[in-house]
Amino acid sequence: MSDCLFCKIVARTIPATLVYEDELVVAFDDINPQAPTHTLVIPRKHVTSIAELQDSDVTLLGRLLLAGNKVARQKGIADAGYRFVVNTGADGGQSVFHLHLHILGGRHMSWPPG
Ligand code: AMP
Ligand code: ZN
Repeated sequence: MSDCLFCKIVARTIPATLVYEDELVVAFDDINPQAPTHTLVIPRKHVTSIAELQDSDVTLLGRLLLAGNKVARQKGIADAGYRFVVNTGADGGQSVFHLHLHILGGRHMSWPPG
């Protein structure tokens, strides 16, 4: 999608600090980090939210999560623990409508979330 911010990051027309990429996903640091480690993993293809995924996207969804684990190891937070977040839709707090997995770590995460 030509007007999608995260599609532009995939296309390298907007800069980002890339930390991981493969043929299906790209990971980059969040521009407004909410924890010492805050990285986003997104599919290369435009998907509005996790709610739009189809049964045929099962590999993509799995690879998104596995890429999150790789990022956690790469960032050195895997042993201490980390949190995956996928905000979905208006009440879910989604603000960028290209599916993204937040990886948060480097501090203790409270529960319940706000
Ligand atoms: P969400 O509210 O779940 O849709 O999360 C969107 C995230 O994208 C927020 O944490 C933003 O800080 C982050 N974000 C927005 N623009 C950029 C950008 N250009 N580069 C990196 N992260 C961004
Ligand atoms: Zn997009």
